[in-house]
Amino acid sequence: MRSDASERLFAKARGLLPGGVSSPVRAIQPFPFYTSRAEGSFLWDVDGNKYIDYCLAYGPMILGHRNPAVIKAVEEQLQKGWLYGTPSEIEVEMAERVTNLYPSLQILRFVSTGTEATMAAIRVARGATGKDKIIKVEGGFHGAHDSALIKAGSGATTLGIPDSKGVPADTAKNTLQVPYNDLKALEAVIRKFKGQIACLIMEPVLGNIGPVLPKEGYLQGVRDSTKDNEILLIFDEVITGFRLSVGGAQKYYDVTPDLTTLGKIVGGGFPIGIFGGRRDLMEQVAPSGGIYQAGTFNGSPVPLAAGRATLDILEGGALDKLNAAGDKFRSALSEIVNDLSLPYSVVGIASMFKVFFGKEPRNYAEALSCDKTSYLKLFRKMLSSGVFLTPSQYETDFLSTAHSQEVLDQTLEAFKLNLKS
Ligand SMILES: *Cc1c(COP(=O)(O)O)cnc(C)c1O
Repeated sequence: MRSDASERLFAKARGLLPGGVSSPVRAIQPFPFYTSRAEGSFLWDVDGNKYIDYCLAYGPMILGHRNPAVIKAVEEQLQKGWLYGTPSEIEVEMAERVTNLYPSLQILRFVSTGTEATMAAIRVARGATGKDKIIKVEGGFHGAHDSALIKAGSGATTLGIPDSKGVPADTAKNTLQVPYNDLKALEAVIRKFKGQIACLIMEPVLGNIGPVLPKEGYLQGVRDSTKDNEILLIFDEVITGFRLSVGGAQKYYDVTPDLTTLGKIVGGGFPIGIFGGRRDLMEQVAPSGGIYQAGTFNGSPVPLAAGRATLDILEGGALDKLNAAGDKFRSALSEIVNDLSLPYSVVGIASMFKVFFGKEPRNYAEALSCDKTSYLKLFRKMLSSGVFLTPSQYETDFLSTAHSQEVLDQTLEAFKLNLKS
């Protein structure tokens, strides 16, 4: 496998970008490959290597790369202009569509990233309750902003800096942590800080330390205790939205949050975020209320056009098919792990999967106890076999609708070979 062009680019990038990359998780050691082209389930790098892509840009590319319907939608929108600074019809249409799919979002706002969406949702919760403290789940990732960068998953966990420097102590003290899948711990924190907590923000399925699934009844238990204690519940569905079902995890598990954040898939691969929820809360957002949020790129028509084309396909039966393919793929992968008598676990749901080098984790601490060094060895071997998994034990791998059975079978063969040795 050739790599000199990627190595050369990385050597130059190190002097220009922090760590040579634009986002931390991309800093694959000793050097990342530089992508020059993408199509369907494949990436090609600048040295001419071809990879089957299970990273899928960490989630948004659920249709794979360069889906023709998305290209057409974007081209049509480009012909009409791509940024107006005024309202446009597509934002009304997409707002109606999302609120129909997610009845808990009675009112919503389009922003440009998931980070902005969670920032705003937390502000709404604080503004509406007049309380400062929030609870988050350990290992949950809600974007890279101050209130959320505490025991955060994703790149922060991979790099071993889940608590970022530069977050004021006065901010950090308002973010309380609870372990996932533990209602007793949640109730203890609620008791201890009674009357001071605005909201609990959580990923219904943890997606940023690898997929970690809720125990039976856990999400409903969270809903009940937050409601009983007048704490707003925010589901961060930036990964699970339009994935577990078109109506997200809230539909799949039948648990209704007060506020929700969405992103990734709903922009069709273009930058997007959504926050929304109960009418009485969202009506407090400016200009109808006193909680401020604004953005030059809010409701940008190109991401909305790409998102609309994506939803058309997912709602047309593609999502059900993809999720069935995910089940089948995880079973086949589990079988390989079992046949080789390895002490690993294959975990996931819908189009999410991960090989954990250890027992199936039920929370952050258990995920951290998996053998991340051995995972990295597997990652490198798979890359040499032309399979691009996410480069960390703590990132979820994804399937797309563009992954053919042939490609999936080829991947399973590569797992068989590389898990063995
Ligand atoms: C990716 C992610 C975010 C942040 O979204 P960006 O678009 O990267 O800002 C927030 N929450 C969750 C659950 C995510 O996976």
